This record gives sequence, C-alpha cells and structure tokens, in this order.
Amino acid sequence: MTHDAPSLPQAFLDEIKSALSEKSWSLDPEEINPHLEDWRGNYRGHSQLLIKPASTKEVAIAVKLCAKHNIPITPQGGNTGLVNAGLAHGEVVLSLKRMNTIRDVDPLNNSITVDAGCILKSVHSAADDNDRFFPLSLGSQGTATIGGLISTNAGGVAVLRYGMMRDLLLGIEVVTADGEIWGGLRGLRKDNTGYDLKHLFAGAEGTLGIVTGACLKLLPTPRTATAWLALESPEHAVDLLSLFRNEAGDTVTSFELMHKSGVELAAAEITGCRDPLPNELPWRVLVELSFADEKLAQSTMERVLEKAFESGLIADGTIAASLTHAEEFWKVRESLPLVKRGFLTSVNHDISIPVSRIPEFLKECETKLKSDVGNIDIFAFGHLGDGNLHYAVAEPASAEHPIVKAQADHITDLVHTLVTSMGGSISAEHGIGLLKRHELPDHKNPAELETMRRIKRALDPQNIMNPGRIFTV
Ligand SMILES: Cc1cc2nc3c(=O)[nH]c(=O)nc-3n(C[C@H](O)[C@H](O)[C@H](O)COP(=O)(O)OP(=O)(O)OC[C@H]3O[C@@H](n4cnc5c(N)ncnc54)[C@H](O)[C@@H]3O)c2cc1C
Repeated sequence: MTHDAPSLPQAFLDEIKSALSEKSWSLDPEEINPHLEDWRGNYRGHSQLLIKPASTKEVAIAVKLCAKHNIPITPQGGNTGLVNAGLAHGEVVLSLKRMNTIRDVDPLNNSITVDAGCILKSVHSAADDNDRFFPLSLGSQGTATIGGLISTNAGGVAVLRYGMMRDLLLGIEVVTADGEIWGGLRGLRKDNTGYDLKHLFAGAEGTLGIVTGACLKLLPTPRTATAWLALESPEHAVDLLSLFRNEAGDTVTSFELMHKSGVELAAAEITGCRDPLPNELPWRVLVELSFADEKLAQSTMERVLEKAFESGLIADGTIAASLTHAEEFWKVRESLPLVKRGFLTSVNHDISIPVSRIPEFLKECETKLKSDVGNIDIFAFGHLGDGNLHYAVAEPASAEHPIVKAQADHITDLVHTLVTSMGGSISAEHGIGLLKRHELPDHKNPAELETMRRIKRALDPQNIMNPGRIFTV
C-alpha cells in the first residue's frame, strides 16, 4: 500500500465503531502516530485506524470485520522489531498492548499462560513470584511482547541452553485470518495428535493470524556463574566454547563474543556501562553457566577457566563475584546494539553460520569488504554459541566522505552471499519483514519458499494478514 491508498470504507468504520468498545479503536492521528515509527527512527509507516482490543473476543470481531471488507491488518506488539515488519504501511494497526494479563501460573506443571500483549519483563516477574524462571532474555525485554516474540521466533542470550521462543512454547491461542478463535492453550509436553500447528505461527511475522495468548515453559530458577574473558582471536573463542561444552555440557547457557572496539564504545557512550576488564587483546567473551546449585556453578566455572588458561585459550578474565557484578557484564553486552557508530548508524547484518566456520567467515568477509568497498570499520558481536553474529559495517571514524551508507546494498549483498556460500542464514533471529524480502529468493530454496506461499494462501486466502511481509504471494 502507498500513501495514496484510499481511505477506509465508511461502512467498515461504522461497523468497527459499533462492534467494539469505544476504548478499542482510534482514528486520532496523535494516538496512532507512535505506532507508525520504529524505535531507531529508520522506518515510518502510515495508517488511518488503530484497533486496540481488550480481549481475544474483540480481536476476533475486528478480524471478522476486516475479512468481510477485505481490509489488511498489521498486528503490533512492543514495536521493537528490527526488520520493518510490524509497522503499518496503509494497513489497519492492531495493537495487542491492552491485552496484558498473566492468565495463570502453574509452578507444578512448570508453565505460565499469558495474554499476547504481556511484556517479556512482566512474564519474568510473574515466574519469579512463583519461584520459577522464564529463560528468554534479550535487550528489548522491557518493551517486547510475547505475541511479538513468538511472531519473530526471538532468540536472545540463552538460546544455547534453552532454545528460541519456539522451543519455549507449549500452547497458543490464535485468531485466524477469517476471525475464528483457535484456543490451543494446552500446557502439554507431549501431544501427538497430528500437525503441530503452533509452530507455524512462530516466526510468521503476523502473516498467518493474530496470536492472542500463549502457554509457555517455566523452569526451576537456576543459579549462575558468569565470567568476562579476554582472548586473542575468534579461533580461540570457538575452541574455548568447545572446551566449555566438553567440560560443563548443557550448563553452558550463554557464550557471547564481542570485539573490544564495541565494548570501548559502549563504555564511552552508554550511561552506567563500564569496561569490566580493559585489556589490549582484541576479543571478549561473556560466558554463563547455570546449575541448580550455586557452589557447583562457581566451582565448575573456576575449573574450566583454569584449563582454558593452561591451554592458552584465554589470557585474562574475571568471574562475577555477585549478581550485581554479573549484571555489569550483561549491561555492556546488552548496550552494544545501542552504540551509535558501531550499530545505530551502520549497515547491520543478523547472520548465522556453523560455529566452526565463524573465524573463517570473519577473516574472509573483512578482506572482501576492505578490498571492494574501502577502509571500513567492522563491529562484530553476538551469540557465538548459536553461530549468530550481529555484523555491523560502519564508516571509519576518520572518513571524509560517507562510503558505507552509499554502498549499503552492495555491502549487504557481499556479506549475505558469503554467508549463504558457507551454509548460513541471512536472518538468524530478527526475521525478514519488508527489509530483507527482496533478498529472500536469492538465499532460500525455491521449493521451500513455494511451500511457505502455499501455507500462506491456505490460511489467509484474502491476503489480509500483514501482507507483503517475508514474501509476496
Ligand atoms: C535493543 C534491542 C535488542 C534486541 N535484541 C534481540 C535479541 O537478542 N534477539 C532477538 O531475537 N531479537 C532481538 N531484538 C528484536 C526484537 O526485540 C524482537 O523482534 C521482538 O521479538 C519483537 O517483539 P515486539 O512485541 O516488539 O513485536 P513488534 O515489533 O511489534 O512486531 C514484530 C513482528 O511480530 C508481529 N506481531 C507482533 N505481535 C503479534 C501478535 N500478537 N500476533 C501476530 N503477529 C504479531 C508484527 O506484525 C511484526 O511482524 C532486539 C530489539 C531491540 C530494540
């Protein structure tokens, strides 16, 4: 849809107004405006109508009316998505934010049932109040909603141990594209009664239906040991990860790689951020282990680090002495996406490749970019344990003329071509949206893409659910 899209039919607006409570819709541009810009100010959308239902029933009524009048809908949660998928470009905005009730916590079943508009942080708190733990953790957790996290199949910093959002999903409630309610909020670990449809909605970016509720896995609260380490190279980091996995098995929860340049920028730019271990070595690793017992967590960390020192994999390091100390480490890691030169103003890539090939990728990509584009700066960091890097290409501090922004498409093409040639993915955790839609056919198997289109046509024959995101039908 373009800015010239015709205004919504009066008959549709009249039906919406009479079917929904007055608080559940708005035509006021001032109220709609904040829903039309992404958090970085990179994208701007437009829409005439905001629907903000208070219940699943109201979502179903609204979707039925949209289907009746053939009006496209963009579902929106916290609007923290990074691929221009949740901003309306002429569609009606359907915000789940008012649906934010924790419906039920069942500590014995280790599950929590919530509205889709619940913010991740409030799910953490509700779990904590019941002496339980919800493991999904990412920088946007104070704003991102459960519906958005499911719809992007979010990852974050503990995927190594607990998996992505999809892996934490026991049941789902969805309003389908024809406005029916599918109440699939079962809190079961075992349910082999045919196709497991909930997984279709994980990562669908709102293109198949509207997630209105979810039943999520909880775990007993773990005790953690956290260390900040200085290393010579990504090769050392990959070997260190392997050592940790051999010695500590699945207790390795996070293994985050950062270049020292990003850490230094975060410490300089972001309030409350401090470099935990100023050091000349170029790379840092933040590693976290989770156990049921705190002493065991600490002693295992110490034992593995001793071996790592002995074998020369790390040259310096510090173990967090308290939770507050560990939070200081995490503050640095979580601030990296907020660093201006390193991320906010650079050309970014959210890629994954087999862990074993990451050192080779880093070397080859930098060489190619520097010979093709010029003397650019690279800020690479990410979830090394998952083979997921955030790879930012930035203007050099000394640049007289911008070269990166001017060649953004060429840079991305170069990075993504190399990623695909190494068996990787051009979107590890952020999704496709409108941002990478044009690239997908070059990187996805045609049969796979066509199967996705068939699923979309079957579940949303009118193409009203967030049309054009991921692909065009
Ligand atoms: C500082 C920062 C750090 C981040 N770190 C990470 C990270 O480590 N790992 C990671 O994976 N992501 C990360 N993200 C990305 C982001 O937080 C996720 O994409 C998040 O999952 C989006 O949730 P949201 O509620 O904001 O959804 P939105 O941005 O509102 O929407 C995202 C997509 O989901 C759809 N959608 C939203 N709600 C629903 C619903 N109820 N039903 C159907 N479709 C829906 C939208 O249409 C859109 O396509 C980060 C973002 C920021 C700003």
